[in-house]
Amino acid sequence: MKKVKIEAIGVKKVFIDENTGREIVAIENISLKVYEHEFAVLIGPSGAGKSTFLYLIAGFEKPTRGQIFLDGRPITEPGPDRGIVFQEYVLFPWKTVLGNVMFGLELNGYPKEEAVKRAMKYIKLVGLQGFEHAYPHTLSGGMKQRVAIARALAYDPEVLLMDEPFGSLDAQTRMLLVDDLARIHVETGKTVVFVTHNVEEALLLADRIFIFSARPSRIIKVVEIPYEKPRQPHDERLLALRKQILDILREEVRKMINREIKGFP
Ligand code: ADP
Ligand code: MG
Repeated sequence: MKKVKIEAIGVKKVFIDENTGREIVAIENISLKVYEHEFAVLIGPSGAGKSTFLYLIAGFEKPTRGQIFLDGRPITEPGPDRGIVFQEYVLFPWKTVLGNVMFGLELNGYPKEEAVKRAMKYIKLVGLQGFEHAYPHTLSGGMKQRVAIARALAYDPEVLLMDEPFGSLDAQTRMLLVDDLARIHVETGKTVVFVTHNVEEALLLADRIFIFSARPSRIIKVVEIPYEKPRQPHDERLLALRKQILDILREEVRKMINREIKGFP
């Protein structure tokens, strides 16, 4: 039987707008289960609360209502069992690729030699062998995101949380990284929760896609993609799913725009 890795039950998140003092219901009610080794993709319109939900799993924020469990234990704070990759390249400019990937390992008590060995293993896994002594400003956007992925994996977290990690990359670079991430997922067996608004990316990577509604969000559909990876973008089975997902998203975006025009929060 599949083991439940992450479980969210009735999660709601309300923010207070600093300027107006008004409440913003970012997430209305989300319940979901992500299984061990699964690649779960969260997709939905911009502002639907996807990042918020990911940060709740990360433990950066607390739900207003409901709870999220990791291995059956409630999440209360960040921890090394969850690695995170953001959309922006959050690398230390004064550290080399190796220094960036090693950062945290030494802080967490790994002896230097062991930290270097681990870092090199993941630098190789993301395809950056030969660049370990390069500084971030000499790297392309795609390479920087590879460093961020290596750094997140170096702690050997059980769960990898990714917030639109390929969002600022050009289409070709993005495709290469998607292929590599699919391979890395198979090789490492991590449980991944991946946020995107890109349907193609979702179709190539996901075991299941959770579609978020417009804010205040809930999950309106879960699409299972049982096809083996790596997948081909022009696979007809994926194209059929693509249409189905785009139709749902288009409807949600329309609702969101209508609401904005009418001036509802
Ligand atoms: P997504 O990642 O799906 O684009 P977000 O989770 O970033 O959406 O945001 C969902 C809603 O919550 C947005 O309306 C956003 O402005 C609001 N929000 C997110 N974080 C905060 C915060 N720290 N304070 C106030 N409002 C926030
Ligand atoms: Mg976001």
